[in-house]
Amino acid sequence: MKTNFDFLMPSVNFFGAGVIQKIGERAKMLKCQHPLIITDQFLEKMPQGPVAQTIASLTAAGIPYTVYDGVEPNPKIHNIQAASKLYRAASCDSLITIGGGSAHDTGKGTGILLTNGSDISQFAGIEKLTNPLPTLLAVNTTAGTGSELTRHCVITNEATHLKFVIVSWRNMPTVSFNDPLLMLDVPPRMTAATGMDAFVQAIEPYISTNRNPITDGQCLQAIKLIEHSLRTAVADGHNVQARTEMAEAEMLAGMAFNNADLGYVHAMAHQLGGQYDAPHGVCCALLLPTVEEFNLIACPERFVDLAKAMGENVAGLSTRDAAELAIKAMRQLADDVGIPHSIQAIGAKPEDFEMMATNALKDGNAFSNPRKATRQQIVQ
Ligand code: NAD
Repeated sequence: MKTNFDFLMPSVNFFGAGVIQKIGERAKMLKCQHPLIITDQFLEKMPQGPVAQTIASLTAAGIPYTVYDGVEPNPKIHNIQAASKLYRAASCDSLITIGGGSAHDTGKGTGILLTNGSDISQFAGIEKLTNPLPTLLAVNTTAGTGSELTRHCVITNEATHLKFVIVSWRNMPTVSFNDPLLMLDVPPRMTAATGMDAFVQAIEPYISTNRNPITDGQCLQAIKLIEHSLRTAVADGHNVQARTEMAEAEMLAGMAFNNADLGYVHAMAHQLGGQYDAPHGVCCALLLPTVEEFNLIACPERFVDLAKAMGENVAGLSTRDAAELAIKAMRQLADDVGIPHSIQAIGAKPEDFEMMATNALKDGNAFSNPRKATRQQIVQ
């Protein structure tokens, strides 16, 4: 537990039903004269969807814009190169990202190319950026990654299939928007995957070696909300209360891991995502119970707290038995929302395991895991 720490988040974070309507006014206050909107084709074409609503608000504020609609899941280097080219060609002066983690990371990566240098891979690691990014307004549409308010930018090198993370306070969006009404049409499988990502992002910081008293509270509250609402959001996407609670949870979890870091689940999930282009939340959810079974002996009392936050009755149980209920509850949640049971489901091949384990141990998220693993343990 850290008792001296700096706590980072964007200076302004809009939350709640309908907050998207404020984006034009806020862009004007930030003196954005011609933002580049970074999104994907699906969201761009959605009638009355997040892009349409953003554009209506910008138009009402008299702000012209250009759209880059080439965002791909697990964004690649060629995405940020294309977006930065368009930014320059259209003489843009700011960025608006609309979507989930892939859109926000594409926006951050674009900003890095524009103001720090053209070889993005040289900035992988911690605090390697030297210049501020353009003003960035992040409109979040999935209750998952927290990228709309974090200092992380995750990019995949399409040539090597390696996902790398650029961690810097300069990556933080200027303003974030979390409007649960924009999330009502996320399909059930994507709701499950992104919700499980938020869940893992609440669990890993709670047992991280870099945790602090503020992130502890955020993690437990996020876990309670997810336990209460993820199943409902998957079963009935138009349930506004469930979507609102999931959006609250993802924001809390995002703030928590932004400041307390993550662990081996993310370090290993990045290898699966980079290698097999699989959905990030599914990779995290698949790995979670096994990694936490390994971590349990490092901090069993923390797992008892997690079990309680997930509504388990631990009265009269030994610490070990109570802690194991947390793992059981994690498995149950993943099962209930339809996460597959094996990494074979995303095409993982045993011949890749040694290489992925080596890279997982080098991933920035590995260093705050509460128990140190050997490469062989990661392979297992
Ligand atoms: P995503 O951004 O890749 O989006 C997945 C799909 O959901 C897309 O096809 C998109 O069109 C669709 N979608 C998004 N919003 C929708 C809506 N409102 N309605 C209907 N469909 C919608 O998914 P994600 O899980 O949010 O992001 C994953 C990426 O984020 C991965 O690359 C992961 O590594 C990264 N990530 C980043 C951070 C960070 O802090 N930077 C943290 C965790 C994960």
